[in-house]
Amino acid sequence: MVGEVRDPETAQIAVQSALTGHLVFTTVHANNVFDVIGRFLHMGVEPYNFVSALNCVMAQRLVRLLCRSCRHPAEVSETLLRESGLDPDLYQDQVFHDAPGCEECGGTGFRGRTAVAELLDMSDRIRQMILERRPTAEIKQAAREEGMTFLRESALETVFAGATTLREINKVTFVQ
Ligand SMILES: [Zn+2]
Repeated sequence: MVGEVRDPETAQIAVQSALTGHLVFTTVHANNVFDVIGRFLHMGVEPYNFVSALNCVMAQRLVRLLCRSCRHPAEVSETLLRESGLDPDLYQDQVFHDAPGCEECGGTGFRGRTAVAELLDMSDRIRQMILERRPTAEIKQAAREEGMTFLRESALETVFAGATTLREINKVTFVQ
């Protein structure tokens, strides 16, 4: 475990440990999994060493869960749909939930939390793209073609499952 990577020295230690056969877990502050690639390369890690050492990158955020005792189906305004990047015409039949608050949740409407996440798996194709220092947009596109679920989509799935609200995910994930 390497606490947090925020300088070239720590980045080198983490990558060297992984290259010499250790399973290394570390954290980096970044907006999403793709920014992690740039962070490491900007810290002077050789792309070849980086892709050889890396198995996968996961980004995650915590969202509060709606209280199961008082949650109920609720209308979502057209404005909120638009602010959330959802076309009102496409989502008019989507059921959303909200919770007014009760004794069980101390009047907050929320009880417990869950993680929403995205996972970038290092396929040969993506390794090659990092080696060639391809733009993030291209790597993102390749990951999408390989079936990756992005952070925002994962957050929306949690909303559509009735577990949390659009306002809640809008606080921790960006509209794409
Ligand atoms: Zn409640």
